[in-house]
This record gives sequence, C-alpha cells and structure tokens, in this order.
Amino acid sequence: MRNVVIIGSGCAGLTAAIYAARANLNPLVIRGVEAGGQLTLTTLVENFPGFPQGVQGPELVELMKKQATEFGTDFREGNVTKVDLSKRPLVVEVGEEQIESLTLIIASGASAKLLGLESERRLLGHGVSTCATCDGYFFRGKDVAVVGGGDTAAEDALFLTRYAKQVNIVHRRDQLRACKIMQDRLRRNEKIKFLWNTVVEEILDVDKHEVSGIRLCNLKTHDETVMPLDGVFIGIGHEPNTGLFRGQLEVDDLGYLITHGGSKTNIPGVFAAGDVKDRIYRQAITASGSGCMAAMDAERFLEAEH
Ligand code: NAP
Repeated sequence: MRNVVIIGSGCAGLTAAIYAARANLNPLVIRGVEAGGQLTLTTLVENFPGFPQGVQGPELVELMKKQATEFGTDFREGNVTKVDLSKRPLVVEVGEEQIESLTLIIASGASAKLLGLESERRLLGHGVSTCATCDGYFFRGKDVAVVGGGDTAAEDALFLTRYAKQVNIVHRRDQLRACKIMQDRLRRNEKIKFLWNTVVEEILDVDKHEVSGIRLCNLKTHDETVMPLDGVFIGIGHEPNTGLFRGQLEVDDLGYLITHGGSKTNIPGVFAAGDVKDRIYRQAITASGSGCMAAMDAERFLEAEH
C-alpha cells in the first residue's frame, strides 16, 4: 500500500514527488510513454527561474528526477491502463500489476494534437512528426512545413531552421497566435516563409511511405496547390491525457481535469497537477508550482485521515 502514487513524470509529477518525498511519504512515480513530459521534447528553456543562461529541457527534467530520487522517490516504468477511484484504497493498474494507494496525484500532462488526416496518421514517423526537437536533425538541407500559428509552431519552425533549407509555416488564419517576441524572430529569419489562410488537405505520398509534398487549400481563394517537401511538423497544440479518468473525475469542455481549492478533484484523496488541469498557462514553472500544491494537499489529506 502506497501513501502517494503520482501518474506522470514531467515537471508537475516530479515536483510533486520532491515535495512528497521530503514529507517522508515515499511516493511512487509512474513514468509512461511520454516520460519526462513535454520538456524532454524542447531544447533551450530560458524562462525557468534560476537559470539565467537558460537550461536544456531534458537536462532540467533529469535534474528534477535526480532531486526526487535523492529524497526517496520510487519510479515504475509503464503505462497506466486503468484506475479505480470508486473505493478506498484507490487502485492504479499498470499492465498486470495492481497498485493500491491512499492518495493519487494525476500529472499525466497533455499530448500533441494531430490534424486528423488519414495520410498524416499513416506517415507519422515517416516524414510527419509532432516533435521538431526530436526529428529536426533528419531534415538537414531539406524543405519542411510546420502547421500551426501558436508558440509551439513558432518554436518548432525556429528550431528547424538550424537544419532545414526552408521552413514553411502553414497557418489557417492571417495572424499568428504566438507571442510577439517569437513572431519577431520568425519574421527576421530568412529561411522561414509563411502560407497564410491555408490548410493542409493531404500529405503525400502514402504509397511511397515517405513525405514528398502536401496538398494545400487557401481558405480565402479556395485555390488548391501541391507543395513538394520532405517533412511535415504538426504544431497545433495539445490535448490533455485524461481518457483514463473520464466518467470518474470531472473534466471541462476540452477534457482538462477540474480542480477545486488548489489541486483537489471531485474525489477525496485524488489531486491533479500540471498541464492535465491547466488549459491556460501550461508552462514548466506553473506545472512545477501546481505539483508542489498537489503534494502538499495530499500530505494534508493523509494527516487529516490518520
Ligand atoms: P495554441 O496556442 O493553442 O496554438 C495552436 C495553433 O494551432 C493555433 O495557431 C491554431 O490556430 C492552430 N490550430 C489548432 N488546431 C488546428 C487545426 N486542426 N488545423 C490547423 N491549425 C490548427 O497551442 P501551442 O502553440 O501549443 O501553445 C499552447 C500554450 O503553451 C500557449 O500558452 C503557449 O504560449 C505555450 N507555449 C509556450 C512556449 C514557450 O514559452 N517557449 C512554447 C510552446 C508553447 P488558430 O490560431 O486559428 O486558433
């Protein structure tokens, strides 16, 4: 029987682990497919306080993991396949293993959204990617497209200019959502071209198992064009990883977990932290802050019960 099980090992989960471990609760962190969370998919993080020169995302997560380990956190690799929050103790299933816990902190984050095209699904990993920092290296001297107009797309596009010959930003409107500083960086970069009011209708060529181009549609003129290129990066945002909890925990209209009075969910002893419950801020530092809150709430819950 565990005191605290934490689902997720990004900034939120690891900060919760540091606090819970320092409260002598010997937490168990379950590290799933996207272990380390979104920071592992980024490069330089310049806005996490304490690192005036910036810090590499994967390094920051590794430092947090080390800190959590030093204070007595256990880690379990594997995907949570089921949770039963209807009774006490709470039950978390990882494959065949059933883990019982007095409290649960959900820090399962959010995953990259896809356009929903069949060709996109078929070519994922064969020229279609949701992670520029993971796959950018493969596109040295090539032409690529980045879909989206927010900070993710902007960051991906800038990163890809290190390798690619040309980076085409395909955005469905004529204004970017990305912050001003990123917009300025994009506009100053000669490798970046914009395709405004444009959507991707198809990614070619499924038959060849590689990306050879994209079929585009201009939403204003309805003109259809085919742009030859070698890679497509989807940077249109993220979806909260809450599928496991639907029907048991309250979620909002976009599927994010709803919390009350700090990190409490609608089930006593179940807390939420980080991007899985945050559709607004979604920053490393806010995820860490809410991980801290969740661990403190879990500690107080356990103290009140025993
Ligand atoms: P976002 O701000 O929601 O932007 C998503 C973009 O993708 C929007 O431009 C949207 O178009 C477009 N889009 C969404 N669905 C689409 C679809 N089906 N087809 C075509 N285009 C689609 O998401 P985000 O860029 O991931 O950023 C999320 C949050 O994380 C923001 O708060 C952002 O500031 C933050 N963030 C920060 C950093 C950083 O600080 N370095 C880096 C990444 C993200 P519309 O504009 O038309 O809606």
